[in-house]
Order: sequence, then structure tokens, then C-alpha cells
Amino acid sequence: MACPFCDDTNINLRKFYENDLFVGIYNLRPFVEGHVLFMPKRHVDSIFKLNDMEKKGLMSFADRCVFIALKYAGAYQFDLLLQEGGSAGQSIPHAHFHVLPRKFDDKVATSKKEWLAEFGKREKSSRGNLTNEETEKIVKRLRFIAKEHAIQLETL
Ligand SMILES: [Zn+2]
Repeated sequence: MACPFCDDTNINLRKFYENDLFVGIYNLRPFVEGHVLFMPKRHVDSIFKLNDMEKKGLMSFADRCVFIALKYAGAYQFDLLLQEGGSAGQSIPHAHFHVLPRKFDDKVATSKKEWLAEFGKREKSSRGNLTNEETEKIVKRLRFIAKEHAIQLETL
């Protein structure tokens, strides 16, 4: 099966931030407003298969994606989620992190158990997929935020 995260057409539609090693994209089925993903450009199925350069750059890239996602959502807090393997809910075998901006009134269940159950259900359903037009609009805004804060992002 072709990997959607190695598919340039898919990535180019969704990406809002990148460097040589990583790319940040908007999720196809956002669980909350500003739900982005980031991942190594190289296809690896586990973060423990990252090479030394990728390991070194990971936190800084995470920081930048979180910054952009929070600005987009008007939030100050977030969940950062990694699922490894089918039993953990990983649906695409290319290692990726979810960034979910959170707010006190976001209506997402507050217990982690309920939260993960609901998250898993929505990840498996194909309902609620954004159209390409909706994605383009959101990605345009995310890219604008990245551009507007380019200097600040470089310090993260
Ligand atoms: Zn891949």
C-alpha cells in the first residue's frame, strides 16, 4: 500500500511548515480546531528509527508546529499524541505526532480514557473528512501564521 505521508501530492496540499527533515501538515479529519500532524520526511514506522540528525531536530520542529497550531486555534495548551502500532491506534505506518490545541470549553471529554476512545473512533471513520477546498483554506492560514512569525520560529 502506498504511504499517504510519502505521497507528494497529498503532502503538498496539506503542508504548512517544513525543513529538510520534517514536515507539518493539517489533519484530514481534525478532531479539534488546529489539529495538525508532524512527521519525518523519511519513511520510518517508529520514532525510534529516527537517525541522529532527526532525533536532534525533533523537539525544535515539534515546538514550531505547536506554536503555529496554537496561534491558529487561539489556544494556549495542547495534547501531543504519538500512536505506535495498530493496537495503539496508528492508522498510517509512517511515524507521526498529533498536535491537538486544547481549550477548557472545547467539549472534548476530560478523562483521557474517554478522550482516547472518541479519538480512536473518529480516526477510523471516514466521516468528517475535510474537502480539498476546506484544507486549502486552513493551510493557507497556517502558512500565513508561519510566515508572519518566521523570525520567532527560528529561535525555537
Ligand atoms: Zn511514508
